[in-house]
Amino acid sequence: MKLDNYRKKRHFGATAEPEGATKLPKAKGKQLIFVVQKHSASHLHYDFRLEWRGVLLSWAVPKGPSLDPSVKRLAIPTEDHPLEYANFEGIIPQGEYGAGTVMVWDRGVWIPDDPDVDATLKKGELKFMLEGKKLKGAWVMIRARGGWSRSSDKPYWMLIKHRDAFASEEDITKTEPLSAISGRTLEQVAKG
Ligand code: MN
Repeated sequence: MKLDNYRKKRHFGATAEPEGATKLPKAKGKQLIFVVQKHSASHLHYDFRLEWRGVLLSWAVPKGPSLDPSVKRLAIPTEDHPLEYANFEGIIPQGEYGAGTVMVWDRGVWIPDDPDVDATLKKGELKFMLEGKKLKGAWVMIRARGGWSRSSDKPYWMLIKHRDAFASEEDITKTEPLSAISGRTLEQVAKG
């Protein structure tokens, strides 16, 4: 099961995060969702997640997405998450994996340029459109190897905005800090 790593890290009696369906739904013919969750854990970061084959492929983006095509944002692969996670906004209790506050910072639909997503993931160059509340237009994720940490040979990725009408020098993590589903600040989410 693709969600084994996800479940191994969590105690579902202690955290309100979803455990995930045991049978993965078929995604055929329906739109693919994406979500960006602002996660105030030991370090603030943004979790970038793309629906594929019934789970959310996930990367941690320490600085969050940038609308500036000249800026490459480091994206570190993390475990696949259940689809239901796209609705999770709340608190992960102290002592649990990822303890801290999670906000749904943006959510919408993603459209891969090449419908053979497995092939483009393997190739390490994934081009797609985002139709979110905040993130729109053409984006690319490119895989690199090594580099960001000498102690790790795990591949990392770069999240980059393509040049189009939605490219901008605006720092969207600063200008659009609120939840895309509740309009709350991170502090308000943290207070429950
Ligand atoms: Mn996270």
